[in-house]
Amino acid sequence: MSEENLTKLSDLGEFGLIYELTKDIKPKNDSTIKGIGDDAAVLHYPESKNILVSKDLLIEGVHFDMTFMPLKHLGYKSAIVNFSDMAAMNGKPKQMVVGIAVSSRYTVEALSEIYAGMKKACEIYGVDFVGGDTTSSTHGLHISVTVIGEVEKGKEVYRSGAKPNDLICVSGDLGGAYMGLLILEREKRAFQADPNVQPQLEGNDYILQRQLKPEARTDIVDALSKADILPTSMIDISDGLASEIIHICESSKTGCVVYEEKLPIDQLTFDIAKSFQIVPAIAALNGGEDYELLFTISQSDFEKIKAVEGVEIIGYITEESAGQRLITNDNQSIDIEAQGWDALKKKRNNVDKK
Ligand code: ADP
Ligand code: MG
Repeated sequence: MSEENLTKLSDLGEFGLIYELTKDIKPKNDSTIKGIGDDAAVLHYPESKNILVSKDLLIEGVHFDMTFMPLKHLGYKSAIVNFSDMAAMNGKPKQMVVGIAVSSRYTVEALSEIYAGMKKACEIYGVDFVGGDTTSSTHGLHISVTVIGEVEKGKEVYRSGAKPNDLICVSGDLGGAYMGLLILEREKRAFQADPNVQPQLEGNDYILQRQLKPEARTDIVDALSKADILPTSMIDISDGLASEIIHICESSKTGCVVYEEKLPIDQLTFDIAKSFQIVPAIAALNGGEDYELLFTISQSDFEKIKAVEGVEIIGYITEESAGQRLITNDNQSIDIEAQGWDALKKKRNNVDKK
């Protein structure tokens, strides 16, 4: 579409814009009594449920980069990161409320694209879009997403429940989203140096998708329930495995042992990490935004977890005094740190050079 055909926000005004963005939204869940269109949404949850609430605030230039984040993906991802928080409590997202503050350089078409991504996420995950607020900003785009969800009473899983000897499990694979980001940043630099250069993205679909269009692992919540496993603790991996396992250990007052060789790393992630001279385990431990689930289970659930597809046991919980340890492939025990894996990096780079 040419620039002239795009609609300025001022052409529609606030009410026109809200209408344009929300006219096709219809709530579906029993717990939604009233969605968009009044002063507040009305919800009703049965006695058997507890209600989960989570919010994320995304600022242009801080949390996302307009030069390589397609608008529809941005909308999708801003919903997914909150759905992932519901999964991390062992629950399901049910309603969503969105606040947007936007500068006049955005068009109605651009906002509609963002909304298309949010609506798609809602459709796929069975979430009702029940309200929001719209205002102007002096700089860029701010998106605030609040998600309301449900969990069966007594089935909510906290970060604080891990016990010594529990098994540490992780879903899916790790480090891919970070490798996707590195590829996008590389192409952005190439583009800034020469705007005529075509982006080199072929062959990297999987990791680009991990970065641009992550999914929330509500399917793992279902699989665990079906396998009759209630995790003892759980968290979603938004900042990297190392930082999340430290959160679980600190909340639970425990230590842990994680094995480098057990870290689930996809082959493409492995190869791209090598091409950037990053030790793949570092990408898996410190790369963020994978939105996989990290959880602990009782030893007695060992047989049951083997039946759950796409879950890897990567270590076990220890007494707090034992600290948080990583056992490397060459059998060294090192401290897990949220960032700055200098010791491992140096050692492994030397090994790789040999
Ligand atoms: P109020 O003056 O009470 O804030 P608004 O005119 O802002 O009401 O909103 C009218 C309706 O549209 C409300 O149901 C509100 O939740 C919904 N709404 C407003 N902005 C958005 C948005 N950006 N996304 C989704 N729904 C919105
Ligand atoms: Mg309002």
